Amino acid sequence: MLSADVVVIGGGPAGAAAARLLAQWDRSVVLIARAASKRSIAESLPPSCTKLLDALGVRSVIDAAGFVRALGNTVQWGREDRRSEPFAGGAGYQVDRARFDELLGDSAQAAGAFVVRGATVRGAKRHGDSWVVNYDSNDGPTTCQARWVLDCSGRAGVVARGGYRRPEQAARTTAVVGVWENDAWADDAYATHTLVESYDDGWAWSVPVSLSRRYVTVMLDPRQTDVPTRDALDRAYRAELSRTRLIAELVRDATLVEPCWGCDASPYRSHRVSDDGLLLVGDAASFIDPLSSFGVKKALASAWLAAVVANTALDERSLAGAARDLFEEREHGMYAELQTQAARIAQDASGAHDSAFWHARTEEIAAADFELDAAVVRGDHRVRDAFEELKRRPAMHLRIGDSLRVVERAVVRGNRVILEQHLASAAIPQGVRYCRNVDLLAITRLAPHHEQVPDLYDAYSRAASVVPLPDFLGALSALVGLEMLSFA
Ligand SMILES: Cc1cc2nc3c(=O)[nH]c(=O)nc-3n(C[C@H](O)[C@H](O)[C@H](O)COP(=O)(O)OP(=O)(O)OC[C@H]3O[C@@H](n4cnc5c(N)ncnc54)[C@H](O)[C@@H]3O)c2cc1C
Repeated sequence: MLSADVVVIGGGPAGAAAARLLAQWDRSVVLIARAASKRSIAESLPPSCTKLLDALGVRSVIDAAGFVRALGNTVQWGREDRRSEPFAGGAGYQVDRARFDELLGDSAQAAGAFVVRGATVRGAKRHGDSWVVNYDSNDGPTTCQARWVLDCSGRAGVVARGGYRRPEQAARTTAVVGVWENDAWADDAYATHTLVESYDDGWAWSVPVSLSRRYVTVMLDPRQTDVPTRDALDRAYRAELSRTRLIAELVRDATLVEPCWGCDASPYRSHRVSDDGLLLVGDAASFIDPLSSFGVKKALASAWLAAVVANTALDERSLAGAARDLFEEREHGMYAELQTQAARIAQDASGAHDSAFWHARTEEIAAADFELDAAVVRGDHRVRDAFEELKRRPAMHLRIGDSLRVVERAVVRGNRVILEQHLASAAIPQGVRYCRNVDLLAITRLAPHHEQVPDLYDAYSRAASVVPLPDFLGALSALVGLEMLSFA
């Protein structure tokens, strides 16, 4: 039987990234990765993914792999005219997922993870303080024991399906994918772009893997559009493409080089994404509507936090609960934000396409609001009033607000979760610590001892850090407006 600190189930972006980070931090890790699917798909990664690739230390490997670097999107959406949207900063990646996953898996192995390739996990059970994971590999049935299990098995949800997933949601999506070639595409202005188009009963998009080869996918609701199997699928796929404009133009002189295929792309989420010694990571936890095209980025971000949480809990059991709470909060928050973003994109299309497909996708999910957002605060009339009052008063005379409490909340510092003091009040019961990098706790400690704003600003600069004066004034006004500080 193998034994490790952490067993990671699944060698997609989430699993490989988490295994690499944990191995880098000297944890013993077993990564159990099923053989790559014969049907690899091309996916778009936005330029903002580069930050996560840097955090994983794999950017140079991915840059050297020769993936098409995407310079933007070309969009034909809803009622709007066709538009080209060049990326403002940097380039994205158009990746062949089998190759991308292989590179990440190799980098996990290079960092010291024990990678079992071509293996399928059959089940994982909690026994006392550890997990026992059973899998089939070339060596036959094998068992691995670990203190933590990260379920990174995507939609399969090896552990996630054991009572963590919510029932399926209203919108069902089937992706039908075809691979096309046309040498003339190399001359197009949008040769590296992802092409996206909405139409009445679905949407279509195309990702280039070279200047002459593209994946073209249609997204359909199988309850509204008949999606046949095998031979009839090619015909149905071409019929859907003929309902588009931009994509139909794209494939007009191109050749479909292999039979198309379908896969499930319906969104789902989990009630809970953690348990004793367990984290559900990336798509194992939730799947956002591909309209948002942030699935891989979400998986990498989820993996990074999961690695930090497991790394912390392995050293300090007393922090395991707080670290898991932080993971729950961030995972649910990230899902809600991205799903809301997808719903807004769907709303833009639904104005032009009055169909059941689009109506089912326009439901927003309220995002959890845990941070003091500077833009929101600026727009709050209580904060603006406090700012005016601070300017008007010859002396501030501030005292601690009646409902102010100091609470401990988990935050990430480096590769660890720590507990940090936050301010909570009737207006912000969940607690907050910073606004535009200004330490609100430090201001509340100093404010009652200073009558003039410049004196308080000087004292803060000495005690905490030097921050721009407008940010400091904004933070002070927020503290007064949200009743964490009051005028005496
Ligand atoms: C049609 C479609 C288009 C998409 N387009 C984009 C896009 O353009 N951009 C983007 O960012 N995202 C896109 N996504 C989303 C993206 O694919 C996922 O969000 C991303 O793959 C999540 O990574 P993951 O590692 O969590 O899961 P996965 O990539 O699903 O990895 C899970 C891994 O676990 C393995 N596994 C499963 N069961 C077992 C088992 N029993 N034992 C061992 N291993 C197992 C699987 O083989 C797989 O390798 C798209 C998704 C779909 C369906």
